[in-house]
Amino acid sequence: MTLNAVTHSLPPIRSLLSDTAKTIAQTICLHQIGKTGDTIMAKYECMVCGWVYDEDVGDPDSGIAAGTKFADLPDDWVCPMCGASKEDFEEI
Ligand SMILES: [Zn+2]
Repeated sequence: MTLNAVTHSLPPIRSLLSDTAKTIAQTICLHQIGKTGDTIMAKYECMVCGWVYDEDVGDPDSGIAAGTKFADLPDDWVCPMCGASKEDFEEI
């Protein structure tokens, strides 16, 4: 393949790439908008068993509604997997 042939084959590839890049950029942008609402959901991991409390999901099995902040969990709430207390969780 000559350099000339390569140069000629570039424009269509470039426009394809640029469309893909735009789509990715928009996706990332939307993703970030979703994350920058008034409530930023955090995740906390149980240091004992590795179970993760996701504020976005809550802990339905324990009656904790989705969107409940870790800080708002009742003091007697424990890890559903191993029974560790809130003090054994760390934000991730
Ligand atoms: Zn645990």
